[in-house]
Amino acid sequence: MCHNALPSRGTLLCRGIQLDPLCPACSTDLEDSDHIFLHCLMAHKVWDMAVAHQWLLNLPFTQPVSSLREELHSLAYNDYPRFSRVVLLLRSIWKFRNALVFRNEISSPMGTLLLAKRSWAEWTLRTSPPFYPSTIPSSSPYHTHPLPKSTQFIGWKLPHGGFIKINFDGSKSSMGVAAGFVIRNWQGGFIMAGSRFMEQAPIIVAEATAMRVVLAPLYKSDFVGLKLKVITRLLLKQCKSRLTHRGK
Ligand SMILES: [Zn+2]
Repeated sequence: MCHNALPSRGTLLCRGIQLDPLCPACSTDLEDSDHIFLHCLMAHKVWDMAVAHQWLLNLPFTQPVSSLREELHSLAYNDYPRFSRVVLLLRSIWKFRNALVFRNEISSPMGTLLLAKRSWAEWTLRTSPPFYPSTIPSSSPYHTHPLPKSTQFIGWKLPHGGFIKINFDGSKSSMGVAAGFVIRNWQGGFIMAGSRFMEQAPIIVAEATAMRVVLAPLYKSDFVGLKLKVITRLLLKQCKSRLTHRGK
C-alpha cells in the first residue's frame, strides 16, 4: 500500500495494461490507492461511519488529505491511538473493492466497518492471553500459567443443564440505538441470534425490545421454567410485574 503496489486499475494502466481506469465504485475518477482509501465517496462514508460509531475517535487523516503514504506515515509517527483499527479498515475497504471488481458484489459502508470490527476482535482475541473458563478443573494444565495481575476478564458462564441462556442488550451511538440478543444452550451451543437498529429510540426501549423478542416465543412454547437475571433495574422491575401477572 505504501509503495503504491496494489493492483488498482489506475496502477495497472500505468504499467501498460489496457483497461478502464475509472473507479468501479463511483466512476468519477481514476482508481489508484489514494482514491480507493481516501477520496472515493465510498471511503468517505466508511471513515465517517467509523467515527460516528465511535470506533475511531476522530477522522484519522488531515484535511485536505495528502497522499495515503504520507497520511499513514504521519499516523504512525504521531502514535495515533487506534492505528491498528485504521489499518484494518484499510484492509476491509480493499477487500470490498475486490468483491465489487471480481464478484460484482455491492458493499455498504456498514458492511465494510463490520468486517473491520470482526477482524479487530479476532486479532485482539488471538493476541490476548488465553481465557480460563471456570469449568476447567484445577488439575488442568491451563492453570499452570498465572494470569497477569492487570488482566480483568468478563466471562460468559454456561447455564445449568437443561437450561438455555439468553443474553440481550441495547447499545447507543450517535447514529442511534440498536438491540441484539443471542441464545445458547447449556453446552454453549449456538441456537439463535438477532439484532435490530432502532434509530433514535431511548436505550431502555432497545433493551426492552431485545428482551421482548426473545421472551415472546417462550411464552407460547411449553417451557417449564425461567430464570431471569436482568442487569438493568428498570427492566427488572417491569419483568417482575409482568411475569407475576402471567403466573410464570
Ligand atoms: Zn471511487
